[in-house]
Amino acid sequence: MIVEIIPCLSDNYSYLIHEKETGTISIIDPSEFNACDKIINKHKKLDFILNTHHHADHVGANLELKKKYNSKILGSNLDKNRIPGIDILLEENQKHKIGNLEFEVIFIPGHTKGHIAFFFKKEKIAFTGDTLFSLGCGRIFEGTHDEMFNSLNKIKNLPTDTKVYCGHEYTKSNLNFCLEHDPNNIYLKDKKIDIERKLKSNQPTIPFTLADEIKTNIFLRCDDLEIKRGLGLKDSSDVEVFSKLRDLKDSF
Ligand code: ZN
Ligand code: FE
Repeated sequence: MIVEIIPCLSDNYSYLIHEKETGTISIIDPSEFNACDKIINKHKKLDFILNTHHHADHVGANLELKKKYNSKILGSNLDKNRIPGIDILLEENQKHKIGNLEFEVIFIPGHTKGHIAFFFKKEKIAFTGDTLFSLGCGRIFEGTHDEMFNSLNKIKNLPTDTKVYCGHEYTKSNLNFCLEHDPNNIYLKDKKIDIERKLKSNQPTIPFTLADEIKTNIFLRCDDLEIKRGLGLKDSSDVEVFSKLRDLKDSF
């Protein structure tokens, strides 16, 4: 499984997946036609389009690509009326194959009601859309804080050596937020050096490993006593701490 990162719009990432045995080509969340087509064109075909959720910056090129390559579009059954051109409706925990690659559908509502992640278990690769970002998490537009917290925990419970590909390059701003509320975290300081080096040379900070994220992403560390104390919430539950952090991030 080869994953090619396609920067789109101002800070979106689409991902091309090449499965070599059968030559199957798929794309995750095609944001804009031209940027995606430039990469797809090298393969002369596009078998599948996979959408994590219905937002325009993730489905923007669905119809144009489907028309050009006669691709099949896959997304959550809950978004059957909102994902343009959808053909194959996916359900929670369902396993599905694109060529010889099998993925599991992880239902992760919060950012939107029908948000899903694609987890390729054998390859240990997850596409998390706008739910888990490097050092951050998505805004809560359609769901509740409880839902988002549970969704992040589902991702947190995947194997720690899972490589994560998310929907946006928000890492720098997320890093600054983590540093503000988790200032003594030594892993965060190492991560800062790595992130700044990548961004300086115009490289994506994606993918990242879950193991790294669990040590550094404040939204996965809501059980940490020092973070709780820093927020003045030492006796609060983890989900209360999460809600507070998400609200603070909204106006950061
Ligand atoms: Zn979104
Ligand atoms: Fe987005």
